[in-house]
Amino acid sequence: MEHSEYQELLASHALDALDAPEAGALRAHLESCADCRVEFDELREAAALLAHAAEPVAPSDDVRRRIMREIQSQPRSAAAQAPVVVPLSQGLSAAWPNVLRLAAAIAFVALLLGIVVLWRRDATSRREIAELARQLNRQQRELQIERDNVTQQTEALALLNSPEAKKIALSGTPTAQTARATFVYDEKSRNGVLLIEGLPATPADKAYEVWFIPKGLAPIPGRTFTVDAKGRALISDSLPVAAGSAAVVAITLEPKSGSAAPTGPIYLASPAS
Ligand SMILES: [Zn+2]
Repeated sequence: MEHSEYQELLASHALDALDAPEAGALRAHLESCADCRVEFDELREAAALLAHAAEPVAPSDDVRRRIMREIQSQPRSAAAQAPVVVPLSQGLSAAWPNVLRLAAAIAFVALLLGIVVLWRRDATSRREIAELARQLNRQQRELQIERDNVTQQTEALALLNSPEAKKIALSGTPTAQTARATFVYDEKSRNGVLLIEGLPATPADKAYEVWFIPKGLAPIPGRTFTVDAKGRALISDSLPVAAGSAAVVAITLEPKSGSAAPTGPIYLASPAS
């Protein structure tokens, strides 16, 4: 027998419905065929599930013996010894209906097994689909963040090109002499963009923080941010109304979560007007 023929026997074998020689041959094939082993294990598990779900479905030993006896005693074996033409209807009327019934029962149960196997595979695919959906969500979130960044940069560019835009230049303090920044903002909406370059890398537990300092008043905290590998950052921030239009803009290094009042060294600041 070939692999494909053995494959057709797997469901019956899972139901213990094969005769001894076939079962023996199939067992020998299973030793050497990993594909059949996998399929047989699945069918066997499914059969176990079915056994929990219903009355035993495999034919009893008694039924199998009776049918085997009928098969052995039916005229076909006699025909093999002496070529006598036996009317087909005679053979069918005697043993075959039982065999066919058994075959139909096995086929039905084999079909059930197939359904159980598919259903279990389906449960696996559903888990895989759920995992894929999660990955997709994550990618969509990342894409959204990316899109927000692009939107922000587009707005920043529009603001930079706007004739209404006001600019405040920040220069590096002795702490960060190569750093420089420009705060560009719209006087009406007070929306602004801060373009920063030349800042030292942000320590892991720290963040830079923007401050708007109205003349003679306490600094008003703005956004916290980190810089890229080249020490650059582009952040949008609005100029607080309370800061007026003559505020100093400064940047300090603060704990990662930001501070309500500056605690770290000043890296960048605009000149006091
Ligand atoms: Zn095989």
